[in-house]
Amino acid sequence: MIEVKKAITLVILLCSFFTGCTEKNKIQQPPNVVLFFVDDMGWQDTSVPFWDRLTQFNKTYKTPNMERLAQKGIKFTNAYATPVCSPTRVSLMTGMNAARHRVTNWTLKPDQMQPMELNHAVLEFPEWNYNGIGLDSLTPHAAYAEPLPKLLAENGYYTIHAGKAHFGAIGYPSSNPINLGFDVNIAGHAAGAPASYLGSDNFGNGIAGKEVWAVPGLEKYYGQDIFLTEALTTEVLTALETPVNKKQPFFLYFALYGIHTPLMENNRFVNSYREMGLEEPEARYASMIESMDEALGKVMDYLEAKQLEENTIILFMSDNGGLSASSRGGEKHTHNSPLKSGKGSIYEGGIRVPMLTYWPGITTPNSTEHTPVIIEDFFPSVLEMTQTNLKNTVQTVDGKSFVPLLKGEPKERGALFWHYPNAWGSTGPGIGSYSAVRDGDWKLIYFHQDQKLELYHLPTDIGEQKNIVEVNPEKARALAEKLTIHLQQVAAQMPVNKITQKPVPLPLSILQ
Ligand code: CA
Repeated sequence: MIEVKKAITLVILLCSFFTGCTEKNKIQQPPNVVLFFVDDMGWQDTSVPFWDRLTQFNKTYKTPNMERLAQKGIKFTNAYATPVCSPTRVSLMTGMNAARHRVTNWTLKPDQMQPMELNHAVLEFPEWNYNGIGLDSLTPHAAYAEPLPKLLAENGYYTIHAGKAHFGAIGYPSSNPINLGFDVNIAGHAAGAPASYLGSDNFGNGIAGKEVWAVPGLEKYYGQDIFLTEALTTEVLTALETPVNKKQPFFLYFALYGIHTPLMENNRFVNSYREMGLEEPEARYASMIESMDEALGKVMDYLEAKQLEENTIILFMSDNGGLSASSRGGEKHTHNSPLKSGKGSIYEGGIRVPMLTYWPGITTPNSTEHTPVIIEDFFPSVLEMTQTNLKNTVQTVDGKSFVPLLKGEPKERGALFWHYPNAWGSTGPGIGSYSAVRDGDWKLIYFHQDQKLELYHLPTDIGEQKNIVEVNPEKARALAEKLTIHLQQVAAQMPVNKITQKPVPLPLSILQ
């Protein structure tokens, strides 16, 4: 026994001496990547403070596993998505900016625009790519691209999709995650919301009128007292066994249906929020957030138990700002305060989202990054992390890798752009048809209907209360020019003004 111990000690010493055997092994094994992607989660829907102070929202919501992840890695305070689901998901999977891929609104029914986009009083909206991602060049009204999971699978990764897909319209190949290059699809299809979160409702299956929204593929949980997020988590951990047993690197895209509507309670968590005095449906909403966080914790626990933590990168992101225009309790458009408005809006409440990153041995524990990043940046970032070749994709990639930021290296991201020549349905501050740019500390918004510009200096006015376009015309002009050049470069679609019968002019031209 003593001899064995001596031998082990000798091996450890030799390994340490010759630059470390274990370190060398770690470098040779490509890292696993977990992308934990929450639906409709706002910047304040967490106990992790993303602002420079703790808010009442941070004190209300319980997300201990997000806190655990933030302690391990980097918190991004200026991370952005698009204002609604599908444009964000298409940018994530293709690396393209929304103005370029033209899936600018949310997808569902094939070969048609959204009902609320028809018969608008002032604007005639363009024929956007309402069929979603196109997997060949012939698919009509689709963004032809080679998606992220396909590239990862070709590089030897085992790819798992779990939860909400929402990549393509009903009947088109991209509505099925398998066709994007995922080896496994757990419960993903064309729809962007579940009919029900409850196993006791069979997740909406068999309910008349809910066929489109019924969650597919979770039959074993029908009739059970189980929340959709919990069923997905169980399935994810089972699916991970395959690559783990084969020692194959994996990409887990865990895209929760939560915390999107319908706002339904997880009965294991809801009572503490009711006791706290939260009105309905805010108590239910809070229980969905805690359920989401529990799922994150279970994945992190699994990685630790399987001794995979040291070689697994964890990314946490949301697909748009928190819902505030409908379905919520309390005053509308205030649920992301200090950010203005919510989902569907071009104000910060609609697009700024919580983002966390943890790359063991690379990211500095418990650190904060203020550099702005946007959803299409995930595409080149994940390719770089997994050493997957980006060359020769059919699409032009607009995203910039944020890997240098994870390594603590300074990186100038350049301007971020949004473009939404569409109608969402609800009304409220900043909800409408618009384009926008953020460059450094400055943000310029161009509203299409009244051709109005708004300029904000975000560090001093995070709530976008003071439009300073008249005070600082030089800055407004510089940003209008940047935005115009971008829209021209990507051949962005503009609505037509029904009154003038002309396309809405590009922002720079209204200043001339
Ligand atoms: Ca969403």
